[in-house]
Amino acid sequence: MSKEKLYALMDERAKDFEDMSDAVWEFAEVCFNEYKSTALQREYMEREGFRITTPVAGMDTAFIAEYGSGKPILAVLGENDALIGQSQMADVAEEKPAVPGANGHACGHNLLGSGSIEAVCGLKRYMEANGIQGTLRYYACPAEEGGGGKVYLAAAGAFDDVDAAVSWHPYADNGIENCGLACVTVKFSFEGKAAHAAAEPWNGRSALDAVELLCVGTQYLREHVLPTSRIHYAITDTGGGMGNVVPQHAQAQFIIRATTSEYMEELYERVLKICEGAALMTETKFLEPHIVSAYSGFVSNHTMDNIMLDNFRPLIPMQYTPEELAYAEKFKPFGSKPDADTPVEFGLDETIERTAVGSTDVADVSHVTAMSQVRVSCAAIGTVAHGWANTAQGKSALAHRGMHTAAKVMAGSLLDLFTDPELLKKVRDDFDATHHGKKYHTMMPTDRKPSL
Ligand SMILES: [Zn+2]
Repeated sequence: MSKEKLYALMDERAKDFEDMSDAVWEFAEVCFNEYKSTALQREYMEREGFRITTPVAGMDTAFIAEYGSGKPILAVLGENDALIGQSQMADVAEEKPAVPGANGHACGHNLLGSGSIEAVCGLKRYMEANGIQGTLRYYACPAEEGGGGKVYLAAAGAFDDVDAAVSWHPYADNGIENCGLACVTVKFSFEGKAAHAAAEPWNGRSALDAVELLCVGTQYLREHVLPTSRIHYAITDTGGGMGNVVPQHAQAQFIIRATTSEYMEELYERVLKICEGAALMTETKFLEPHIVSAYSGFVSNHTMDNIMLDNFRPLIPMQYTPEELAYAEKFKPFGSKPDADTPVEFGLDETIERTAVGSTDVADVSHVTAMSQVRVSCAAIGTVAHGWANTAQGKSALAHRGMHTAAKVMAGSLLDLFTDPELLKKVRDDFDATHHGKKYHTMMPTDRKPSL
């Protein structure tokens, strides 16, 4: 077994995936609408000899591409969704939408899906050439940005027979990305009674009062929750915006996060009590809560994380050309590290005990199979995700270099697992030790058709 031979096979086809990623960048399709992006990728993988299953779990833009047979079953996950309103001209170091108001790849998911396919295609060719047994899969996962495609896939049992899975995310640094807060996004609505606010307010009951008391009550709750939790909200319906009408309806969107799914659900129950209290105080009706989405807390698998780091280390520092470094220099002033000594992050952060700040649907996969993910530098140092500078750099040589590196880390890691049953056993033991045979459960209403 030789990583050099695997990587040489991957280098031969590198241009295919640059073109694929650039095409997906141009399509810039959002949540559950990744039709052109996934058609392009499906057709490529079909030509490469993969068996394709689509749709999956009721989602048209989900597909599974499979090669080989029998155990072990190892998988790579990819995403393709863009963000609303994040259009930006490529390579231009100032905020300038390509099409004002259009969508754009400000989170690098054009690289994410294409890089994951690059890993799977390269590894398949190596397995064929060397008679390596097992099943290799790629999962095209829709709507990471708010739609939670992987939650639907996990709930439908799409990962149930998978022994281990890997993924990656483009950032402006290199390391392990094995954390995510459990999270529920929910709409709380109240129904009151409209009345003239001056002529007969005693006949009205204000739904907006209920929302305000819900928000105030939540402020008091904050003192008595674990400091790693987050509760944030926006008032999404103020009841009409007329000061002389007692608002009949009002609504707030709440996002409740915690490090574990169990604690997040406990907090959700406590916020529900505040909702009921607010309704009682205002003599309004608290309507059935509408859960928009729910993600689990990430359960890391340190054995897998270490395998990924072992494969990452020899590829760092990435061999940037002077042109790439000059390109990065142009974007550095717009990131969070404008005074950094270097235009890119050269090192590899080997920390595996990480503190979660956001949430991801990759976490749901970590509840059903051994899961690890890396973050790979695809942009100038300090470049912020979900911003125009990220979109601008999405087709650059810098981005392509990061994508190829990610593909090699993932392909190399899965090759280790395909060829070393003892290592895979350690990964599975680690999974069993953290999950205690618990059945996967989500607050996401997965019986509802996936949508935003
Ligand atoms: Zn993302």
